Amino acid sequence: MSKSISVIGAGSIGISSAIHLQQRGWNVTLIDRKEPARETSYGNAGVINSGSMVPLNSPAMHASLASYLKNDKPHLRYNIKHVLKNFSWALQFLQNSKTRKTDKTAQALFSLTSASLDEHKAFMQRAGNSHRLSEKGWLRVYRNEPGFTEDSYDATQLKRFNIPGQKLNADEVHDLEPSLKPIYSSGYLLSGAACINNPGALLTEYAEQFVSDGGTIVKASIQSIESRADRIICRTDSQPVESDQLLIAAGPWSDDILAMLQYSVPLCVERGYHAHYKLENNASLGRSVHDVQSGFIMSPMELGLRITTGVDLDHRDAEPNHSQLKQVLPSIKEAIDLGSQTDDPVWQGNRPTLPDSLPAIGKTPNHDNVWVAFGHQHIGLMTGPITGKIVAELISNEASDIDVKPFDPARYVQSTVRRKPIWARS
Ligand SMILES: Cc1cc2nc3c(=O)[nH]c(=O)nc-3n(C[C@H](O)[C@H](O)[C@H](O)COP(=O)(O)OP(=O)(O)OC[C@H]3O[C@@H](n4cnc5c(N)ncnc54)[C@H](O)[C@@H]3O)c2cc1C
Repeated sequence: MSKSISVIGAGSIGISSAIHLQQRGWNVTLIDRKEPARETSYGNAGVINSGSMVPLNSPAMHASLASYLKNDKPHLRYNIKHVLKNFSWALQFLQNSKTRKTDKTAQALFSLTSASLDEHKAFMQRAGNSHRLSEKGWLRVYRNEPGFTEDSYDATQLKRFNIPGQKLNADEVHDLEPSLKPIYSSGYLLSGAACINNPGALLTEYAEQFVSDGGTIVKASIQSIESRADRIICRTDSQPVESDQLLIAAGPWSDDILAMLQYSVPLCVERGYHAHYKLENNASLGRSVHDVQSGFIMSPMELGLRITTGVDLDHRDAEPNHSQLKQVLPSIKEAIDLGSQTDDPVWQGNRPTLPDSLPAIGKTPNHDNVWVAFGHQHIGLMTGPITGKIVAELISNEASDIDVKPFDPARYVQSTVRRKPIWARS
């Protein structure tokens, strides 16, 4: 009989891991309290870009820290009380933005981003939803000079990893995206990038394929976890789910699930928002467009023009703060013929981020049958399938082409069980 595994979390990471485990003969039960891909993986900007290996906490952020003190930029907003409460996370996050550290982070993240498009294509071929992918690149646009500069940290990393791209002048930006108003003086096209026209639907279709191939999805909320040497029991608000092994892929809630097994982890979230708009005067975009200086992304999606925001550093469960969306609205109207907002509500997502901006992928320190895959910050849609492959290889005791050391969960996942003092041990 094949070995069984439960996967907690049906977002990009959990669904992808479930599929790769299934392909290796595991009997997989995917557990989520919602329908698949209804949380962070639902509302992102849909970009797949091998060049997204530079995290937010990079030398570029380090250099412009002073400009964030006023807390009035759409790129990054923070609740100071939350930051002070999570001071250790914030401090480590900043320490990791130094050049030497970020160089290493980028190297590790590139091992994921560079494999992302091919891994998605393999999933799409199986699920029959390749029509959701458009391979026309990802466009950054700049209102003011100097725009994209060769000596910026980002540019040096794009060069280091041979990411294809080209600088565009104002006319070339207009030729590529004629619906953009002539307010952009330059642009940079990441020509190897791709866009998904509905990330929630893409992942739902992957999950449906997983079920057609014999997988099980249980809609239930995990309440507690009982771990025995050879068996794991997930107690939920409906039936318990038993298996030989467990994978925790609960994105921004992974800390809560790990706490059920007496682990703590310094996981914070970089919140973000989207709103959908109609376009007027037959305006349209051919690809996702990032207005770098104004701090928003416009992505042409099945549900309308999706505007996604920068980072809102606050507690995952705090009241949504729509101020960044409101702030960028006039800039969007300057950029394109924006019509009315669609009936879809404004959406909030929580990018799950560890202090070094690297995900945790691997075994938990004290349980041989409990694994984790979470912490994919801004790139979890694209890196879901490759993460699923790596974690399925680890669980199945297969060799991986990718160096997994940088993702070792032990760097942050710590047991909260106090060891008895020596004098009290028998
Ligand atoms: C505004 C924005 C734009 C982004 N743009 C991009 C982009 O262009 N490209 C890209 O690659 N990434 C992007 N991202 C990042 C990406 O969306 C995330 O990294 C990714 O979705 C994280 O996936 P996940 O599976 O780890 O988490 P999630 O998708 O949040 O999945 C976690 C799941 O765990 C479940 N869960 C939690 N607790 C329990 C419980 N107790 N019981 C049962 N189930 C539980 C939840 O219901 C949820 O479904 C963006 C994010 C945001 C917010």
